[in-house]
Amino acid sequence: MSEQVDVVIIGAGAAGLFCAAQAGQAGCSVVVLDNGKKPGRKILMSGGGRCNFTNMYAEPAAYLSNNPHFCKSALARYTQWDFIELVNRHGIPYHEKALGQLFCDNSAEEIVDLLLKECDDGNVRLRMRSEILAVEGNDEGFLIKLAGAEIQAKSLVVASGGLSMPGLGATPFGYKIAEQFGLPVLPTRAGLVPFTLHKPLLEVLQTLSGIAAPVTIATEGGMSFKESLLFTHRGLSGPAVLQLSSYWQPGESVSINLFPELNIDDFLNAERESHPNQSLKNTLAKHLPKRLVECLQTLGKVPELTLKQLSATQQQQLIDTLQQWQIQPNGTEGYRTAEVTLGGVDTKALSSKTMESSQVPGLYFIGEVMDVTGWLGGYNFQWAWSSAWACAQAVIGKSK
Ligand SMILES: Cc1cc2nc3c(=O)[nH]c(=O)nc-3n(C[C@H](O)[C@H](O)[C@H](O)COP(=O)(O)OP(=O)(O)OC[C@H]3O[C@@H](n4cnc5c(N)ncnc54)[C@H](O)[C@@H]3O)c2cc1C
Repeated sequence: MSEQVDVVIIGAGAAGLFCAAQAGQAGCSVVVLDNGKKPGRKILMSGGGRCNFTNMYAEPAAYLSNNPHFCKSALARYTQWDFIELVNRHGIPYHEKALGQLFCDNSAEEIVDLLLKECDDGNVRLRMRSEILAVEGNDEGFLIKLAGAEIQAKSLVVASGGLSMPGLGATPFGYKIAEQFGLPVLPTRAGLVPFTLHKPLLEVLQTLSGIAAPVTIATEGGMSFKESLLFTHRGLSGPAVLQLSSYWQPGESVSINLFPELNIDDFLNAERESHPNQSLKNTLAKHLPKRLVECLQTLGKVPELTLKQLSATQQQQLIDTLQQWQIQPNGTEGYRTAEVTLGGVDTKALSSKTMESSQVPGLYFIGEVMDVTGWLGGYNFQWAWSSAWACAQAVIGKSK
């Protein structure tokens, strides 16, 4: 005999736990299945261990999807302010780090504890280390087969996440379930991920490993971000690069403005007036890390001249180079270090109000498994909360 429940949720991550808590507290019998040892593993690792749990400026424009309008309804129905209110209710101290990004003051563990307490209040049963052998649709809903057990559920919620960080338990399970039930899955790729560089450039820039600079960085398509760029021993990282990586297509160059705030022409003219014999290198080092200027010289981007030797044409060329430094990444570091997965279950096959499949009643997809991906800065967790909440309302309605 199989155990009978209202809802089975696959995945004890951000979206799965939040959905389980809402449905459980409304009286549904809920079982959460996860193949890992611990719930919320990505939450624990997130935000450098402090979990950037939402963003005060969360809005649909900060999400990538083949179907850009899809996320609007869920984000409007369960907003960042709703989650902030929940965090306040649990007495978790937090702060805004930058650009509306809210982080725990202490530890990401507090967000996992919040979710587990909420699940407890809803009598949710968590079954960790569960290997799901098969899922079958039937007249009563779905039969989930585990080693030595079967669970019959009226609704099945797939919250198994994307492919990023296989070391933290990521699997393609959700995509396989979607395909099994005939839902389209859009091609996936790593997002919010560092760029790797081709060898000759890497060898020069590697010497800058650990150095950061504020920049504006843009794709060929014109998407740009003004944040910090970090040189690493493998290539380029930092918030500016992670953000842009979600919009970058293989083979494209990126354009870097090393002086996003300063009028370089005015600056060079003023410096020439007061220090005509000053080297260009020392002049630029007043605004850029000195080693970066040295690398730019090695790459032939900054001439070895004094300010008075620099002709008007050379000055204009230099300005163009420093404001539009073209770099062609070799690729990205891939899923191993990516924070998110772009693509996934095609939202065209889902209801934006409930996250339910339009073809398979009772089958829901929430969180990162679907083709909705946020910017860096708490947007991805907000999508997990908002999509989970929308789904929970529908599941609750069905169980009554
Ligand atoms: C290092 C890192 C830091 C991040 N920091 C932030 C941040 O600060 N702010 C932010 O907004 N976003 C951040 N993100 C992104 C964020 O973690 C994800 O977008 C979010 O966790 C997605 O939630 P989810 O519930 O959809 O998936 P997940 O949280 O990934 O949960 C999926 C769950 O499904 C389980 N699972 C997978 N396959 C199976 C299977 N076959 N059977 C059973 N269970 C399965 C997994 O074990 C996991 O518990 C970060 C990501 C990473 C990798």
